[in-house]
Amino acid sequence: MTGMIDPFGRSVDYLRVSVTDRCDFRCVYCMAEDMTFLPKKDLLTLEELERLCAVFVSKGVRKLRLTGGEPLVRRGVMELVRNLGKLIDGGQLDELTLTTNGSQLARFSEDLYAAGVRRINVSLDTLNEEEFARITRWGRLPQVLSGIEAAKKAGLAVKINAVALKGVNEHEIPSMMEWAHGEGFDFTLIETMPLGEVDEDRTDQYLPLSRVREQLEQTYSLADIPFKTGGPARYVKIAETGGRLGFITPMTHNFCESCNRVRLTCTGTLFMCLGQEDAADLRAPLRSSESDDLVSAAIDEAIGRKPKGHDFVIGRNQAPAVGRHMSTTGG
Ligand code: SAM
Ligand code: SF4
Repeated sequence: MTGMIDPFGRSVDYLRVSVTDRCDFRCVYCMAEDMTFLPKKDLLTLEELERLCAVFVSKGVRKLRLTGGEPLVRRGVMELVRNLGKLIDGGQLDELTLTTNGSQLARFSEDLYAAGVRRINVSLDTLNEEEFARITRWGRLPQVLSGIEAAKKAGLAVKINAVALKGVNEHEIPSMMEWAHGEGFDFTLIETMPLGEVDEDRTDQYLPLSRVREQLEQTYSLADIPFKTGGPARYVKIAETGGRLGFITPMTHNFCESCNRVRLTCTGTLFMCLGQEDAADLRAPLRSSESDDLVSAAIDEAIGRKPKGHDFVIGRNQAPAVGRHMSTTGG
C-alpha cells in the first residue's frame, strides 16, 4: 500500500494546517480574552509552510485544510493558497479547503475561488447580533454575514459550523438550520471540547448533541445518510428543509476509529491527535537540510506513533484534556 498508514491501519491522507495562532475574534469557548500569542520568530514562514505541505502531499496527503487562529488574518496568506492550489491543477491534491470565522471573506472570496478553493467552512454560532458579539467578544455579525454572502456569490460551497452551547444558542439551532438550508448551505453542529484554559467553565458550555438530536426529532424528520466530506461529521437529511445537518460528536460518540488526519501548527509541530499531547517537531529537520529527506523521515516516525484516540472528559474542576487551545492546532 502507498501513502502513510498508521499503526492501526488507518490511512492518513488529510492534513490540517494552522497557518497562524492569531485571530481577530476571542470566542469564549476557544480563547481567553487576554491571550499570549507566539513570538513571530517561532513561526514558519509561508514558504516553509508550503514546503512542508508539499512534502505531505508527496507522501500521500490528498486533502489540505487551512485553519488557525484565523487563517485569513495572516499577512500574505493568499500567496500560500495560490501555490497550494497549483497542486490541484497538477493532480497531486484533490482538495484545498479553509475553516474561517468569515470576517475577511468579503475581501478574499473571489481570490480563494480563483486559487482553486471550492468549499469553505464558516464558523457561526448565532444569528443574533448581541449574542454574536458576546460569544466572539470582538466579532460583529454583519461583517460575517456579508462575508458569507460574498463567498456564495464567488461560487464557494459554504458549510456553516456552529458549536452547540448550552443555554446560549441551544434554542436557536432550528432557526439557524432553517436559515442555512434556505441559503443552500450544509449546517454542522459541534460539541465543545476541553482544549486549553478559557475564562468560562466548560461544564456550563457543554451541550451533548444526542440531546439536540432528540429535540429536533420532535419537529423534523431526520434520516441518516452516508454523506461524507472527509471530516468526522455524521450527516442526516432533514425532510422539511431538504438540507443536510451534520453532527460532530467528539464527546458523545467517539469518532477516532475512522481518523484519517494529522495537524500541523504554524511553528511546524505535528500533532497526530487533536486530543493528545504527543507531537513531533518538523521545524528542525526542515531547517537543517535543503533536501526533504530528514523531514520526510520525521513524518514517518510521527505517523508511526499516531495514537488510537483521545479521551476527552468534561467535568467540574476537570483540567483541560490538553493545555493548548483549539487556535493552536485549528479545528
Ligand atoms: N478561526 C477559524 C474559525 O473560527 O473557523 C478557524 C479556527 S477555529 C479554532 C476552528 C473551529 O474550532 C471553529 O469552528 C470553532 O468554533 C471550533 N472550536 C474552537 N474551540 C473549540 C472547542 N473548545 N471545542 C469545540 N470546537 C471549538
Ligand atoms: Fe478565533 Fe476561530 Fe477561535 Fe473564534 S474559534 S477565537 S474565530 S480561532
